[in-house]
Amino acid sequence: MKLIYDFSDGNATMRALLGGKGANLAEMTKLGIPVPPGFTITTEVCNQYLANGRKFPKDLDKEIAQHLSALEKKMKKGFGDIKNPLLVSVRSGAKFSMPGMMETVLNLGLNDETVVGLIENTKNERFAYDAYRRFIQMFGSVVLGIEHDAFEHELEKIKIARNIKLDTEMTAEDLKQLIELYKKVVRKETSAEFPSDPQEQLKLSIQAVFDSWNIPRAITYRQIHKIPHDLGTAVNIQSMVFGNMGDDSGTGVAFTRDPSTGEKKFFGEFLINAQGEDVVAGIRTPQPISKMQKVMPKIYKQLVLVYQKLEKHYCDMQDLEFTIEKGKLFLLQTRNGKRTAAAAVKIAVDLVKEKRINKKEALLRLEAHQLNQLLHRCIDPKAQKEVIARGLPASPGAACGMVVFSADEAEDFHEKGKKVILVRKETSPEDIHGMHVAQGILTSCGGMTSHAAVVARGMGKCCISGANDVWVDYEKQKFIVGKVEVKKGDIITLDGSTGEVILGEVKTTEPKLTKEFEIILQWADEYRILKIRANADTPHDAQTARDFGAEGIGLCRTEHMFFDPVRIRVMREMILSETQEERKKALLKLLPMQRQDFIEMFEVMRGLPVTIRLLDPPLHEFLPHKKTEWDELAKEMKVSPKKIQDKIASLHELNPMLGHRGCRLMITFPEIAEMQARAIFEAACSVQKSGINIIPEIMIPLVGTMKEFEVLAKLIRRVGREVILESGVDLKYAVGTMIEVPRACMRAKKIATNAEFFSFGTNDLTQMTFGYSRDDASKFIPKYLDIGILDNDPFEVLDQRGVGELMRIGVRLGRQGRKDIKMGICGEHGGEPSSIEFCHELGLNYVSCSPFRVPIARLAAAQAVLRRRG
Ligand code: PEP
Ligand code: MG
Repeated sequence: MKLIYDFSDGNATMRALLGGKGANLAEMTKLGIPVPPGFTITTEVCNQYLANGRKFPKDLDKEIAQHLSALEKKMKKGFGDIKNPLLVSVRSGAKFSMPGMMETVLNLGLNDETVVGLIENTKNERFAYDAYRRFIQMFGSVVLGIEHDAFEHELEKIKIARNIKLDTEMTAEDLKQLIELYKKVVRKETSAEFPSDPQEQLKLSIQAVFDSWNIPRAITYRQIHKIPHDLGTAVNIQSMVFGNMGDDSGTGVAFTRDPSTGEKKFFGEFLINAQGEDVVAGIRTPQPISKMQKVMPKIYKQLVLVYQKLEKHYCDMQDLEFTIEKGKLFLLQTRNGKRTAAAAVKIAVDLVKEKRINKKEALLRLEAHQLNQLLHRCIDPKAQKEVIARGLPASPGAACGMVVFSADEAEDFHEKGKKVILVRKETSPEDIHGMHVAQGILTSCGGMTSHAAVVARGMGKCCISGANDVWVDYEKQKFIVGKVEVKKGDIITLDGSTGEVILGEVKTTEPKLTKEFEIILQWADEYRILKIRANADTPHDAQTARDFGAEGIGLCRTEHMFFDPVRIRVMREMILSETQEERKKALLKLLPMQRQDFIEMFEVMRGLPVTIRLLDPPLHEFLPHKKTEWDELAKEMKVSPKKIQDKIASLHELNPMLGHRGCRLMITFPEIAEMQARAIFEAACSVQKSGINIIPEIMIPLVGTMKEFEVLAKLIRRVGREVILESGVDLKYAVGTMIEVPRACMRAKKIATNAEFFSFGTNDLTQMTFGYSRDDASKFIPKYLDIGILDNDPFEVLDQRGVGELMRIGVRLGRQGRKDIKMGICGEHGGEPSSIEFCHELGLNYVSCSPFRVPIARLAAAQAVLRRRG
C-alpha cells in the first residue's frame, strides 16, 4: 500500500484518501497552478495509526525520507541544512473541510543552527527570528499541547518592557530573546528541551495531526456537521513560502464570488508583509482585494487569471489562499468556498445560466439544511433602533440576546434557557461550543474571512466581525463603544446583513424567499416525486405553509386548538363531568368552535388535502399543573377543591406517554370523537357548499390493533353519513390512521383493509421502538452521541435501520392490505433531509413537516430523486 503521495501524483478524485486539501493541492499542481511543492500522507495511515495505539505503520518512516529527499531536490534546499534550510508546513486535511480544526505548524525545520542559514539566505535577521519564534509557539501549542497563553504572556512581557504595542515593532534582538524565553516555557511545561532535530519535529507534528482527529472540538464539529468519525485525516507536508519578507510579499484569502451574497465579483482580503495566520486570526484587519490592483498590479493580474482558471476547472465558487514571496505568487490552496445559503442559491442559479452546470447539478449542490438561513428573521426596516457600532456583515440574519463574553458562559446561560450573544475580540476553535448555542456572534477584530465569520456562516448564524470601535474588556465583563458601556447580561441586537450592533431588543420580520430561491424550488418541484405537506394547527400556520408551497396539511393536531382561555375552560368542564350526559353537554359547547376552526383551515387550503387528527394527549394535560391553580379552578368551576384534587389524582399516570391517550382515550370517551367528527364533517359540508371542493382526511392516533381502528372508524363513518344526509352535500372523505405504535407496523396489512390512509408518526414510533421517552431522552442522548453509541439524535434524524425497518414493514404490509393506500409521514423527521430521502426510497406519497421547513423538504425530495438516479 502506498502511504504517501507527492502533489504531482494525485488528483481531485482522491479526496477520501488524500483529504480535501491534499487532493486539491494535487489537482492544482496538475493544472499548472503555482503551488509550493510537497506531499500528502494518506487518511488510511491516520486510521492505521489510531487503530494501532498511536503507532506509525512499518514503512512510513522510509517513505517520508524518500519524499523529503525528492522535495529537497525540487527546492534545492536541505531539510536541517544549516546553510540552506528547507522549511515545511504540516497541515491536517480530512475528506470534508473542518475549518478551525486543522492543527497547522509552519516553519518546521528551524532550530538554532538552521535559523542562521535562513538569515543568510534572506538577509533578513528579524524575519528569520520571527519565523523561528512563531514556529516554537505553534509547535509548542499544537504539538506539545502547551497553552497558547503561556507564550503570549512572554510576548506581552517583552512588549511592555520595550514599551511597544505591535508585534511588528519588535526588533531581531527582542525576538531572539523571546526565542530563549519560549524555549524556557517548553522546558517548564514539558520537562524536556524543545526538539531541535527537524526529523523529530516532523515526526511529532505528524502524530499531532493524527491525534487532532479525536480531540473533543473536532468530535463536536463532526457531530454538528454530521461527518462520520471513521474518515481520518491526511497530513500535508509542503515547502514553506513566506509572505512576510518585505513589502513585495504578502498573503491573502479570496473567493471567486462573494460568499455572502453570491454576486459574481472577485472578493477577498490581503495583507502586505504578513503570514497567513495574521489574516485568519484577525490580528490585523486586512485590506479588500480590489486595493491590490494598485499596490501589486502584476500579481493582481496573475491572480485574476488563476482564479478564473480555477473556477472554470472546478465549476464552482473557489476559496483561495495565496502568498506572495518576494514578488512571486504561490497558491496555497483552493477549495469550494463556504457560502451563505443566499450565496449558495444565487451561485447555483447563476452557474446554470452561465451554462457551467445543469439544473440537476445545481439542485444537488445545495445543502438542504443550510437553506434554513434563508428562512431566518431580519431586522424590521421600520423599527426604531439605536445603532452603537458597525462591523463587517459577516453572516446574515438578525439575533437578539444578552451579552456574554466567553463560550462557557454562553453555554451556561443557554442551558438556563437564556438567549445569548457571544462577544469576543476574536474567536478560535475553542469557542465552537459557545458559538453553537449563541444566537449571534460579535467580534471586535478580524475580517470577513476570520474564524468567527467563516464558522458562523457555516452554522447559518448571524455574525458581525471586525467591529473595531467595540472595545472588549474581558476582565470587567463589559464592552465599550464611545460613551456607551454594555455589561454582561445587557441585551443587544445584531444585524448580520448590515453589520449594525444595536442596543436593546429590536423588532424583526419574517424572512422572504428570494427570486433565486423561488427558481431553485421550482426546479426542485420538476424533479421531486414526494408531495410536501405541512403540520399546521391554525389557519395562520396553514397560510404560511401554503406560501412556502405546501400541497396540503399532513397533520392538524386538534388538541392545540383547545388551549385558548375560553376553550380550555370548556375542556375542563368536560373533564370534570361525572356522567356521559354532562360530558356531552360540555362537548356541545366546543362543537361550534371546532367547526369554525375547520372551516377556516379548509378555506385557507382551498381544496388541498387536510388531515385532521382526533384528540391525542392524555386528559391531565388540560388541567392546571400547579397546586395554587387548583383552588382557582375549583372556584371558577364552582366545585370543591377536593373534587379537583381527586380528578387530578385519578388522571395521574406513571407513564402518560404510554397511557390513556390517543385512540384509547376516544374508545373510553366516544363522545369526544363524535363531537370532533361532527365538527369536521359539518365544516367540510359547509365549505363544500360555498364551492370549495374539499376531501377531509380524518386520522385516528396511536392505533395498535385493527379492532381499535375499527371501533372508531365505524363511529366516524356513522357521523359522516348523518351529517351528509342532514346537509344534503355530496362529500367525499377518508378515514385513516397514524402508524406510530410498533405493533401497527406489524399488523399493517389487516389495518389497511379498513384504513384508507396511513401516516407514520415517527415521533412516537421512535419513542416506542427505542424505548426512549420523548420527554426525558435529552438526559442521556448527548452522552450517547459523545461516545458514539448513536450517530444522531433519533428524534431529529430518522433511525433508518431500526425505526425505518419497521416503517418498511408497515409500507409493504399496508400495500398488501390495500393496493392504493395513501401513505405519508408526519413526525418531525418529515422535514429532515436525510429522513426525507429515506421516505422517498420507501415510496411514501408525501412528507409533512412544519411550515418553515416546507422549502427545505421540497429541495430534499428532489435531491432524493436525483441522488437515487445516480
Ligand atoms: C408522532 O408521534 O410522530 C406525531 C406526529 O404525533 P405527536 O408528535 O403529536 O405525538
Ligand atoms: Mg404521536
